[in-house]
Amino acid sequence: MTEYQVGKVLHYINGEFVEGVANKSFQNFNPFNNDVINEVAEGFKEDIDLAVQAAKNAFELGPWGSMKLDERMKYIYKIADLIEEEAEEIAVLESLDTGLPISQTKKQVARAAENFRFYARMVQTKLHGESYPVDDLFLNYTVYEPLGVIGLITPWNAPFMLETWKVAPALATGNTVVLKPAELSPLTANRLAEIIHKSGLPAGVFNVVHGFGETAGASLTAHPDVKAISFTGETTTGSTIIKSSADTLKKTSMELGGKSPLIVFDDADLDRALDAAIWGIFSFNGERCTSNARVFLHKNIKDQFVEALKERVANIKIGDPMDPSTELGPLIEKKHFDKVNSYIELAKEEGCEVVQGVVPEEFKKGNFVPPTLLLNARNEMRVCQEEIFGPVMAVIEFETEQEVISMANDIKYGLAGFVWTNDIKRGHRVSRAIEAGMIWINAQNVRDLRIPFGGTKDSGIGREGGHYAFEFYTEPKVIHVAIGDHHIPQFGKSKTG
Ligand code: NAD
Repeated sequence: MTEYQVGKVLHYINGEFVEGVANKSFQNFNPFNNDVINEVAEGFKEDIDLAVQAAKNAFELGPWGSMKLDERMKYIYKIADLIEEEAEEIAVLESLDTGLPISQTKKQVARAAENFRFYARMVQTKLHGESYPVDDLFLNYTVYEPLGVIGLITPWNAPFMLETWKVAPALATGNTVVLKPAELSPLTANRLAEIIHKSGLPAGVFNVVHGFGETAGASLTAHPDVKAISFTGETTTGSTIIKSSADTLKKTSMELGGKSPLIVFDDADLDRALDAAIWGIFSFNGERCTSNARVFLHKNIKDQFVEALKERVANIKIGDPMDPSTELGPLIEKKHFDKVNSYIELAKEEGCEVVQGVVPEEFKKGNFVPPTLLLNARNEMRVCQEEIFGPVMAVIEFETEQEVISMANDIKYGLAGFVWTNDIKRGHRVSRAIEAGMIWINAQNVRDLRIPFGGTKDSGIGREGGHYAFEFYTEPKVIHVAIGDHHIPQFGKSKTG
């Protein structure tokens, strides 16, 4: 992989690329062969303090807060244009850093550009208050104001897209930002900083501090000048962040883990259900929060569906993430590879039949886990209850609608659900019964930017997407104006004594 030369990644603070105060760095590894890609500046509390101060100054003193809306949006549109101009390179960096197949990272980059455009349009058309006339006496109206400095903490599984998904609405609504990207995928966060720098965004409006969760991340969540934290990552990390943010009463948004059910009834379009089930767990190397990690098959179609699954799994193209024909790449890091493999061992101990594709010998240096089916699984097994976050599908048989609903819900997570049936009433009924933030009927995981995104139960608190993001990144203020002479109590006017 010597053709991909990447220099040291630095923090981006107050409009400059800088080393950390402690002058420390860490190594960033290539999931394809576990070679070192580059060094990354390691940030600590001191770096977070500088970045938050820069963001605070930019919010309070800089031109950002007082800038006219159209002018502010020019930067947002410009960032989208620059992402598109550099799309090819960004996709290469993302695949290099994460092991995600290039055909998939290209789509993510296109989506990232659209995130900026979408929020620029959305703010211009939809971010407005309401007015409430009260009799002939008052007009009450609301305005939506930015919060100030927002801390964004993001994971490694679709880093560039998820960062822009937060950065775009945070900036478009007039806030300033400190981003702490995942330590395992710093490259495209750095490219985003370079693009934003090129866009001419005023210094301090957008800042990036690289580093680890327990140090850089925790300093951001505890910082008194950070007004809100938007987090995407593991459920346990989310809980730690809420606790840390509580001392300074921060607003928090949590997009957390999942273990989503995909249910195939015996009247479903089986070919399409098969395509969706395969894509839903093996795309993004299985490292996807909304993946259908639990597939429930009606007993009448189970055998034929399982045979088709086996055939497809044997055929999935495992390969170099840079190869446009690759369907499944390596997992993010060796530690995660070990974790996923330990779950596959556990599945055998719990009584599953394990069916896997084969990793070609030439790729053995990378963190490749082949596409894996856990057959004859039962919902109560640990491999069905815990988030594995890899290319591993548990297959569970069911007989009745009630039984499958109760199994789908018998889990701590509630992010997504997928229902395959040609009975329209059942499709709606089951969708309503599943405890999750998002359900797809006869559809794979496609999403319009306008709809709310997020989960229930241990999968999250709050929603991102569409105008729902405005509720998080802004604060409503109500202004009460008297338009008539209402009664004002006259204390102290009556004679006493
Ligand atoms: P993670 O929780 O390990 O890390 C996410 C981020 O949090 C990283 O930047 C990390 O450095 C930081 N962090 C870790 N400890 C911290 C602390 N104590 N204080 C502050 N920050 C801290 O998650 P991950 O392994 O990077 O990502 C995978 C997880 O993300 C999976 O559980 C997946 O389901 C979830 N995810 C959810 C969604 C969603 O929208 N619901 C989307 C993508 C990924």
